[in-house]
Amino acid sequence: MKVYKFGGASVRNADGVRNLLKIIGDEQDLLIIVSAMGKTTNALEKVFEGLQKGDSAFSMEHITALRHYHAEIIDQLYGKPTRLDRVEAFFAELEQVATQTDYRPEAAELWYDRIVAFGELISTSIISEYLGTHGIPNRWLDMRRCFRTNDRHKDATVDIAASQPLLQEAMKERPARIYIGQGFIGGAPDGTTTTLGREGSDYSAAVAANILNAESMSVWKDVDGVMNADPKAFPDAVQITELNYLDTIELAYSGAQIIHPKTIKPLQNKNIPLYVRPFGDKRKPGTVIRRMSAPVDVPILILKKNQVLLTIRSRDFSFVLEEKFAQIFTLLERFRIKVNLIHNSAVNLSLCVDETWHIDEAIRALREEEFDVMKVSDMELLTIRGYNADLMERYASGPSVFILQSTQSTARIVRKNE
Ligand code: ASP
Ligand code: MG
Repeated sequence: MKVYKFGGASVRNADGVRNLLKIIGDEQDLLIIVSAMGKTTNALEKVFEGLQKGDSAFSMEHITALRHYHAEIIDQLYGKPTRLDRVEAFFAELEQVATQTDYRPEAAELWYDRIVAFGELISTSIISEYLGTHGIPNRWLDMRRCFRTNDRHKDATVDIAASQPLLQEAMKERPARIYIGQGFIGGAPDGTTTTLGREGSDYSAAVAANILNAESMSVWKDVDGVMNADPKAFPDAVQITELNYLDTIELAYSGAQIIHPKTIKPLQNKNIPLYVRPFGDKRKPGTVIRRMSAPVDVPILILKKNQVLLTIRSRDFSFVLEEKFAQIFTLLERFRIKVNLIHNSAVNLSLCVDETWHIDEAIRALREEEFDVMKVSDMELLTIRGYNADLMERYASGPSVFILQSTQSTARIVRKNE
C-alpha cells in the first residue's frame, strides 16, 4: 500500500484533477488523501467569520462564490453542465450550518471545524466521482469516522491507536484498488468534527501511512521538491535531494513550508520514506525524506512570518526563573499560544510567538498575574541552518534585528518585518 497526498494547489482546477488521474495511473493499492481545492479553506474561514459576526449575508456571499468555483470545475471535468448529488448535499448542509447555527463564542473552534471541514468533504467527493467515471473504481472514506482525535478543535491530534481499527474496518468493509479520503479532518470522541491545523493534510496522510504500514508516502506539490529556502523570499534557492527525518522536523518547526510539522513522527515511527514530488512531472525525482540521508551541503533559510515578540518581566523585579517560567508557559498553553523562540536574561523573558486570535487575552491574563508585558507586532523569525559570514552580514545585522541566537550550526534571528 502507498499513500499519495494532493494539496489544494494541485487540485485547484479541472486540469489539476485530470493530472491527478494521470499520476494515479495504474497503481493497484493506493490511498489518496486530498485537501480542499485551491483557496477553499480560506473562503470557508470567511464563512465562519460571518457566523461569528452574526452576518449571514457575508457567509452566504462566500458560500455562493464557492458553489460557483466548484461548479465550474465539475462542468469542465464532464464537458457539460453537471450536478453531483453528494456535492449539492454538502453545500446545502454548509449553508444550513452557517446561517442557522445558534452561535456561542465559547464554542468558536467547534463551529470553525464544522464549517471548514466542508472543503475537503467536497473536493474528495468530486474527485471520487470523477475517477469512477474514468474507469478507476474507488472508495470514498469519511475521515471524520476513520480518525479519532482529541477534542482540541482547530488543532486536533489523531489518536493513532484508537484510529487504527476504525480506518482498517472502513477499508475492509468495502475493498477497493484505490481509496480516497479527506486530509485535515477527523472526529472527536463526542462525534463532533475536528480539524488538524491549517495545512494539516500532510499529517493526515502520514497518520494513514503509519496505520496501514505503507511502503511509502508521496506528497505531490507544485514545486520540484524541497528547496533550501522559499524561492519567493530568496531568489537563489536550490533544491535539496535528500533529507533525514530529524532535519525535516527542525525545518518544519522553524516554519519551512515543506510539510506540516506533525507529519514526520508517524512516518519515523514506522520508518516510512516520504517523497516530495512535482505534480507537473512524474519522472522528476523530487526530494526523499527518510531515516538516513547525505548531509545537506547548502545553507537552509527559513522565514516564519506573522510573529509577535513578547517581553515579560515580573513586576516586583524578581528574577524570572523556573517557577515563573512554569507559570507563564501554563498560561500561554491555556491560550494556545505557540512559542517559537525563547530568550531570557536576569529579569526578562522574551518570547517570539505566532500572531493568533488569543494573543491579547493572554497578555491581559499575564498582566493580571503581576507581569509587565511588552508586545511588538510585525516581526518575523529567520532561521539559518549552516550559516556563513556572508549570510549573517546580510540578514543578522542592522537595526531591524531584535534578537540573535546562534549555535555552531544554526542562527535564529527575530527581526522587524521590512
Ligand atoms: N485545506 C486545509 C488548509 O488549506 C488543509 C491542507 O491544505 O492541508 O489549510
Ligand atoms: Mg493547503
